[in-house]
Amino acid sequence: MKTIGLIGGMSWESTAHYYRVLNQETAARLGGLHSAPVIVHSVDFAPIAAMQSAGDWDGAGQELARIARGLQTAGAEVIGLATNTMHIVADQITAAIDVPFVHIADPTSDALLADGFATVGLLGTRFTMEMGFYKNRLAERGLTALIPEVDRTNLNGIIYEELCRGIIRDESRHIYVTAIERLAARGAEAVILGCTEITMLIDDAVSPLPVYDTTDLHAKALVEAALT
Ligand code: GLU
Repeated sequence: MKTIGLIGGMSWESTAHYYRVLNQETAARLGGLHSAPVIVHSVDFAPIAAMQSAGDWDGAGQELARIARGLQTAGAEVIGLATNTMHIVADQITAAIDVPFVHIADPTSDALLADGFATVGLLGTRFTMEMGFYKNRLAERGLTALIPEVDRTNLNGIIYEELCRGIIRDESRHIYVTAIERLAARGAEAVILGCTEITMLIDDAVSPLPVYDTTDLHAKALVEAALT
């Protein structure tokens, strides 16, 4: 099995979830005492979040590209970035490395298409919902992504003010469930949890639409890439 390099820390709450899924999936695939060979570079999220707010995507991209190169030098043979939002700079990262990079939107598209969905809701940070990079990647695979028409500021704030700090509130869960209900009323057949922390709040048990959790799908895709 190849060594997985994970650029994490954005936030560390979701990176902890990735680490668990990487190991559980490896054990499920290989059996016995197998666990994932993984090198995690857990990034301090505060300076990256400041660059997001300032719109300094080039600066953030340079930093993540430097980290990806470091993972490759340390022995990573396949690399993943444990946040949807920072895939805005995926091209800068792939240009800096020679090993495969597993884009988080790709296993998500694969799962939705395998289940026969064409129109899906997309929840995430403002950047993921409003900038084209994520919706375009889905559109390239024939998927139409709908984003909430209202409450995007609230949905975004819950990610940064609560989930990234490990805070889980029933009131916030209700706001997300309401957003999913509105997406369903507009024709969404399933919903993408397009932020790696939303899985802390929403699952199939509470969602009015089938849930596609990017954290889970991405971590499993990294194991698949490491095994092939
Ligand atoms: N982890 C989140 C995501 O998947 C949000 C934090 C970030 O901006 O990276 O988009």
